[in-house]
Amino acid sequence: MSKLAIDALSEALLSGSLKVVDLTVTLDAVTPTLQLPEEFGWGKSWPFSKELISRYDEKGPFWYWNNFKCGEHTGTHFDAPIHWVTGKDHEDHATDTLPPDRFVGPAVVLDATEQVKSNSDYLLSLDFIRSWEAEHGEIPAGAWVLYRTDWSKKATPEEYLNMQEDGGHTPGWDPEAVAFLAEERDIIGVGTETVGTDAGQAPAQEPSFPCHNIMHGANKCGLASLCNLDQLPTVGSVLIAAPLKIKEGSGSPVRVIALAPCD
Ligand code: MN
Repeated sequence: MSKLAIDALSEALLSGSLKVVDLTVTLDAVTPTLQLPEEFGWGKSWPFSKELISRYDEKGPFWYWNNFKCGEHTGTHFDAPIHWVTGKDHEDHATDTLPPDRFVGPAVVLDATEQVKSNSDYLLSLDFIRSWEAEHGEIPAGAWVLYRTDWSKKATPEEYLNMQEDGGHTPGWDPEAVAFLAEERDIIGVGTETVGTDAGQAPAQEPSFPCHNIMHGANKCGLASLCNLDQLPTVGSVLIAAPLKIKEGSGSPVRVIALAPCD
């Protein structure tokens, strides 16, 4: 069975009946990174930066390479359960110790594009998930649950972060919805198009940052700053997201791809 499945997969890739969709934003100096309120004295995540070592020149005549630096949670990135205090006591909960089967799974897409158009602070609800399941079937165990908002299509970093006097205004989750996914559906984790997996106003939610709090508390993972979710079917794709193997890393930038049937 497994050999047949791998053969069928290879054949589908070669014949072009499966497409590979890139769900990753480009890393550069203007890639938006989450900046938490300075008045709390909270730490700062480095934006991405890159420094030339050589480019076929006197520093290295035959080769081109760079140094780069950034926070673990920069651009399209992976959140490991160790990222949150609620997930700190799980075993194998960091980027280097997570079992690699957590890096591959079926993806389902919850499309709240319409709701978010009229409400940047939209919180995806448990009712939304129940209606989705009534139409598309139960969210399978081992799935990545992708929250489509088209937020990744914002034209500028300012519009993307949408910071106002009282913090960010970007969509997120009702705590009941994440609790259901974490406790009633044995998913790998959730992925969002926003800069983090929680809403811009998540510090004021109860609990604060409910997606981080509840998901990582249940030893689930997260993906943030995804794009191109509009190129995926609602069900029937497979997502691959393997973080850098940073020792005791809380997360890392990641190239996220999905295998999906061609239309
Ligand atoms: Mn993160």
